[in-house]
Amino acid sequence: MDKKCDACEFLKSPNQKHQILVTDSWSVGIYNDQPYLGRAYATLRMHKGKISELSTKEWQELQEVISKLEVAYQNAFGAEVLNLECNMNHAFKTEPFNPHIHWHIYPRYKNAPEVAGIVFDDPLFGSHIDEDKVNMVSDEVLDEIAAKIQEQFDE
Ligand SMILES: [Zn+2]
Repeated sequence: MDKKCDACEFLKSPNQKHQILVTDSWSVGIYNDQPYLGRAYATLRMHKGKISELSTKEWQELQEVISKLEVAYQNAFGAEVLNLECNMNHAFKTEPFNPHIHWHIYPRYKNAPEVAGIVFDDPLFGSHIDEDKVNMVSDEVLDEIAAKIQEQFDE
């Protein structure tokens, strides 16, 4: 690899405290910035930069991951829909381009859910997300969010 890949470095790091779902091919994590409750990334565990390079197995697993998340977010927080995006634009800001496939997951809410006393409103519900929205939560709150999602996987 000519250029360091942040996603690969991250996947190797022991600091992935909030990986809510890991399969052979995908690692789903939530982070302290929670502009939409449960906002997550599904990162391919292998370094690939083009959608066309995804194997059938990787697509199948992604389908299972997204399906699981859709049900979990609905049951845990009342999410109406998951917005999914695969952009990788950041990787194209400087050359040499070295993208790593990851999906952005934004659960969307008609009724603002509340966790740990924090209300996660979604005033643009029914439209594209607000890309500038930032909502940093503590590690403790993130633990609670992760636990509520993971509870649903055991049902
Ligand atoms: Zn990578």
